[in-house]
Amino acid sequence: MTIEFTVFKGSANDGILQSKTYRDGPTSTQVLVKITHSGICGSDEHFKHADMVLGHEGVGTVEQVGEKVSQFKVGDIVGWGLLHKACGHCEQCEVGHDQYCANVEHYGAHNLDQGSFGSHAIWDASFLFKVPESMAPEDAAPLMCGGATVYNIIASYNIRPTDRVGVVGIGGLGHLAIQFLAKMGASVIVFSSTESKRDEAMRLGATEFYATKGVESFNMGAKLDHLLITTAALPEWNLFMPVMKPRGKIYPLSMPSGSGMINLPFAPMFFGGLTVQASLVAARSVQRNMLDFAARHEIKPIIERFPLTKAGVEEGMEKLRAGKMRYRGVLVMEE
Ligand SMILES: [Zn+2]
Ligand SMILES: [Zn+2]
Repeated sequence: MTIEFTVFKGSANDGILQSKTYRDGPTSTQVLVKITHSGICGSDEHFKHADMVLGHEGVGTVEQVGEKVSQFKVGDIVGWGLLHKACGHCEQCEVGHDQYCANVEHYGAHNLDQGSFGSHAIWDASFLFKVPESMAPEDAAPLMCGGATVYNIIASYNIRPTDRVGVVGIGGLGHLAIQFLAKMGASVIVFSSTESKRDEAMRLGATEFYATKGVESFNMGAKLDHLLITTAALPEWNLFMPVMKPRGKIYPLSMPSGSGMINLPFAPMFFGGLTVQASLVAARSVQRNMLDFAARHEIKPIIERFPLTKAGVEEGMEKLRAGKMRYRGVLVMEE
């Protein structure tokens, strides 16, 4: 049976194109999801001019399953993120780093005829995640990419409760990073351009806050073991290198704006033995742990809702572009 989806795509101008996708119903290990919510991620912005369906923080209800699907049933609430499928048999898959699979399918490169900005999608069951019962679907959506991206640093790079962890930026990623780090017991040192988000940062669990605009150095006691850069605009490195502990690690979490290049002052890295560590969302095992951790500790994104329509997608993306989103946009499908 052919299934017709409404989808929202990038376009050559600044608008969003409403279109239709036609797919055969789910077979084998596939699942048809009726989308109810989608987060708006900074990565969607990179594809606003591309001829592809946008959105990769999807949540919805299982509507049909293929004959080989045993882990989901009709009516389950599920979500997905940047990754669509991995091969399961390459070296990276074998060691559990399926986001680096040699044959991975992911947003922006594969399955361009469907995404989370739409009415439905058909995905392989292996890359769908059950939304915990205590979690609202609208809160689950931003965790699918944003939450996974920040939690993966904690889980995969050995951040411990005794560590001092810096977070640059309080946006879609930053406001989640502060919460995850605080709940696992780390000291969270937040950096934002002005004082305007100080109270919000402290409420989310920050232990210290520093405004960066016009500042030449930070008057900080102990230095940092880790520094998460959650902004697409890169920070003033000469401000941050001096507050890193020797052998500290710096994690740029989003694709740098502009040229996509990162220019680093090498001397402080050299003498301090610093590492700059890139990281792509999360492996499935980490993603499941992240959802469980968020549910148990009641970690919730702070969201602004927009209708999952052409106008709603345009308004939400525009607000994110203008730097005015507080802090993650979620598109909501009207009944
Ligand atoms: Zn994303
Ligand atoms: Zn693989």
